[in-house]
Amino acid sequence: MGAVDITKLDFFTSKLDAAVGWARKFSIFQYPFVTACCGMEYMATACSHYDVDRFGAGLPRFSPRQSDVLFVVGTISHKLAPVLKKVYDQMTEPKWVVAFGVCTCTGGFYDNYATVMGIDTIIPVDVYIPGCPPRPENVLDGLMKLQAKIEKGEKQTKLYDPATKRLI
Ligand code: SF4
Repeated sequence: MGAVDITKLDFFTSKLDAAVGWARKFSIFQYPFVTACCGMEYMATACSHYDVDRFGAGLPRFSPRQSDVLFVVGTISHKLAPVLKKVYDQMTEPKWVVAFGVCTCTGGFYDNYATVMGIDTIIPVDVYIPGCPPRPENVLDGLMKLQAKIEKGEKQTKLYDPATKRLI
């Protein structure tokens, strides 16, 4: 029996990775962690006019174990932060996180001891959707950016450190 040409194996595994990435980006099972007014915009995006089902993201799951994208929608308080972390930890790999709205991204206009100043200090965030609240078009733009990351197999694993203003 002749030796196996390793370059041909590389060709097939890279094609397989591309096929899996393509399938994965159109089969998003999202977990909506909705806490505040941004939830209305989240629901508007899911309805027929904007129709997230076109992107294969139309089926929210309410168990972290059945989800691969965590949508954090609304203000997160320090009291709620351990719950968010637990939900994230219960999701299986590969998993991605979307910060929906300026409160989730940075704490927004809240400047007090009770509010988390950005969920990326607790869990790694892949896509930030700005706005208060973001318009559905912004949400779809964020969703397409997420799909591009999923297809390439990219994901954020680092947290933001406010003291050094760096990812750690
Ligand atoms: S970003 Fe604006 S709309 Fe969204 S939760 Fe914060 S205050 Fe409400």
